[in-house]
Amino acid sequence: MSENIEKMKSRALKIINILENEYPDAKCHLNYDNPFQLLVSTILAAQCTDERVNAVMGPMYKKYKIPGDFLKVKPEQLEKELSSINFYRNKTKSVINCSKALVEKHNGKVPRTMDELTALAGVGRKTANVVLGNCFGVPAIMTDTHLNRVTQRLGLVDTDVPDKIEAELKQIIPENKQVKFSHVIGEHGRQICKARKPLCDDCAINSYCPSKGKV
Ligand code: SF4
Repeated sequence: MSENIEKMKSRALKIINILENEYPDAKCHLNYDNPFQLLVSTILAAQCTDERVNAVMGPMYKKYKIPGDFLKVKPEQLEKELSSINFYRNKTKSVINCSKALVEKHNGKVPRTMDELTALAGVGRKTANVVLGNCFGVPAIMTDTHLNRVTQRLGLVDTDVPDKIEAELKQIIPENKQVKFSHVIGEHGRQICKARKPLCDDCAINSYCPSKGKV
């Protein structure tokens, strides 16, 4: 589709307005009470479902309340507790090393910048954006499987590489809309623009989508 950047920005805004009405309560699907919990849960949610992470971590956060608590337990014990989460061995290491860095370098607090967050074990741009956007009010595009798929179908991005998707969307989504955009697009992907069979006839933004009926 040949569409200049201004037209794409305008189309993106229309899409956001419609989806904000469709999904007024769209939010992060991971449960958390503070930035540390969201950081840990997002690390654990890579290639795993949010539901699984919520089920495992809900009870665990009653015991592991601050980063130092993850350093008091033996790694084998933590591995056992996380064993129903995909790639739990590597993730156990990440949680421990991330907690160690939080204690040693950040006074036990979750830092508020992309550079500091991505310096932590197991934390890439995607995880950092989830924390920055949801906890600290920082403009952030939160790439996940749903946002990546839907924005490609909508022709808002021209790549399937998550970090490039983030960069391209930052060019067209206003800063004050980036977090909301991430939530509503993610919700649309879960409910309507599904991976295998998108429900194009029921899609509220189908008049703005070049992929309507073509997937
Ligand atoms: S029209 Fe179809 S492909 Fe396009 S966003 Fe809607 S459900 Fe997805």
